[in-house]
Amino acid sequence: MLWPKLLRSLLRPDHAATTPEPHPDTVAALAARMGEAAQARLGRSLGILVVEAGGCGACAAEVRALEGIAYDMERFGLRFVTTPRQADVLVVTGPATRNMTEALQRAWEAMPEPKWVVAAGDCAAGSGPFQGGYAVEEGGVGAVLPLDLVIPGCPPQPSLVLEGLLALLEAQARED
Ligand code: SF4
Repeated sequence: MLWPKLLRSLLRPDHAATTPEPHPDTVAALAARMGEAAQARLGRSLGILVVEAGGCGACAAEVRALEGIAYDMERFGLRFVTTPRQADVLVVTGPATRNMTEALQRAWEAMPEPKWVVAAGDCAAGSGPFQGGYAVEEGGVGAVLPLDLVIPGCPPQPSLVLEGLLALLEAQARED
C-alpha cells in the first residue's frame, strides 16, 4: 500500500537537517587561512570555476553555497568565476559523463598556470552511484583530468570543501 510508505517517508529524519553545521567561527577561521594561503601562493584571491559534469546537482549546490550569504567567502578572497581563463581551481562535481569529457579538457587547457583540479563528491571521485552506467567512464574525473584533490561525500558539506581547498593551497605553498 502507498500510504504506509508515504507516512514512513514523512516521518524519516531529514539527513540534511540533522547534519551538524560547523560553528561560524570555525568557518571564518578556515576562510581567513584560505585567504592568507591564496595571497601567499598567488599574490591575490583564489578563482574557482565549478563545473557540474553529469551528477544530481547536490554537490555543485554545496560547493556554490560557499558564495551564498551563509558563508560569503568573497570576504576572505575566494572568487567564483565563470570562465576558465580567470580560474585557478577547477572544481568538478558529478561523474564526468562522456559528453562532458571534451568540455572539461578544454576548460582545463584554457586555465592559466598554476592551476589545480578538485573532484568534489563521490561521483567525481569515482562515478558514485553512476558507476557502470553507459554514460560514464570508469574512474570519475581522474579518468579525464590530472586530479590534485578529492573531497569525498554525497554530497560533501561546504566546510569540507573549504578545508580541502585550504589543504591544497597550503601543500602547494610548502612545495614552492
Ligand atoms: S556524489 Fe551524491 S550528491 Fe554528489 S552529484 Fe553524486 S549523487 Fe549527487
